[in-house]
Amino acid sequence: MARRAAKYSTMDELAVALSDQLGALPVVDAHEHLHAEAKRVARRVDVFLLFYQYLAAQYICAGMPPERAQALEREDVPLDEKWSILAPYLDLVRDNAVARPPFEALRHYLGEDDLTADNFERLTERMRAHNQPGLFERCLREDCGIVAVLNQNRTMWQTDLFHPILFESRFIGGPDRVGFQTVMDEAADPDRWALCEDAREGVDEALLLPATLGGFVETMEALLERRRQEGMIGVKSIGFAHVPVEQTQALAAYQHLRAGHADGDDLAALAAYLRDRMWEACGRLGLVAVIHTGVWAGNYADPTTIRPTNVLPMALAHRNTRFDLFHAGTPSPADAGMVARATHNVWLNLCWSHLISPLLYGQALDLWLDFVPASRVIGFGGDYWWNVENVYGALLQAREAMAQVLARRVRAGSFTEARAVQLAQRWLHDNPRDLYSL
Ligand SMILES: [Zn+2]
Repeated sequence: MARRAAKYSTMDELAVALSDQLGALPVVDAHEHLHAEAKRVARRVDVFLLFYQYLAAQYICAGMPPERAQALEREDVPLDEKWSILAPYLDLVRDNAVARPPFEALRHYLGEDDLTADNFERLTERMRAHNQPGLFERCLREDCGIVAVLNQNRTMWQTDLFHPILFESRFIGGPDRVGFQTVMDEAADPDRWALCEDAREGVDEALLLPATLGGFVETMEALLERRRQEGMIGVKSIGFAHVPVEQTQALAAYQHLRAGHADGDDLAALAAYLRDRMWEACGRLGLVAVIHTGVWAGNYADPTTIRPTNVLPMALAHRNTRFDLFHAGTPSPADAGMVARATHNVWLNLCWSHLISPLLYGQALDLWLDFVPASRVIGFGGDYWWNVENVYGALLQAREAMAQVLARRVRAGSFTEARAVQLAQRWLHDNPRDLYSL
């Protein structure tokens, strides 16, 4: 594999020195969606895959028709067709923060600085040559110093490095009757579903639900406990405004569900009720409640529905449960910080925020240095599904932004260089390790 030194963006000497010191620290990658390595290396990859996922949202934003963007990920679309789709848009998004990791991956793994009409075939050959077993260990442990990955790929797949987080629907069911039946099916035969991404596939639709809502809650809690014993470290939810419901309303909704005539209000009441029971159980079991806040990954979704302040009532209602507020509440890190400051059980996770904007990432750290205890901040998470090579550039981007914030504080006399490295060690490693009991 060809290697070239990554370029520093404009950083002063102290920031460069700090960035280098940060580069020697162990890292807990506090959020990925990586598919199992066997699945990744079985895939016929090409260089365009590196330029997909979050960049696809940028292309669509720049005017690329969505179905053309999706073609960039498909294995059956010829490389030259992919280039003709991408070429008019690449220049429009290449300076967006989210484009840096694929360009760093080109430099670090494939030995070239840019993707062009002349090199996409050559780069694809190189990428395929290193798409071999051991890829994850090389990219994550060797190249990034990553010692643990909090991973949410919809399965219980795990290794020495990867620790699974499942989505809430695996436990609270919904959004329809089949979803609730799926929970019962999974609880009855957890091994069958452990590595299945979509447990709804193949569920027995004639399956009876328990006679009472209490029975469903018991099953849900037993499944949470079972998955925890197997290595699950948290459950992820989306940070919509949480409206608690009265038990009587939830009981009635559940009977409507069993009788086959639950309406939208019933389903919303059940979801809210079960989510509260789930978060309470997470607290008892030592599982972390992960909440996606701030901004959506794709296009055409309203980010005002998932503001970080939505986490505050959840955390107040479940004070024995630890909440990990994801994505720093980007673009509102001040609000996210205030939620943490108002509670003892909310952590602030900067995963993916460095990919949206290193500037906002730096502002988040700077603000939180002012009013959030150093133990509550989690500094990095790549958030990729297939592109393990992009984690390298994403980490570089996070470390550089972190180093610049710390360098400014050192220059201002707030603390020493040694203290700056100590803080970075907490943010990049110790805090996520402690929160998730790794
Ligand atoms: Zn994610």
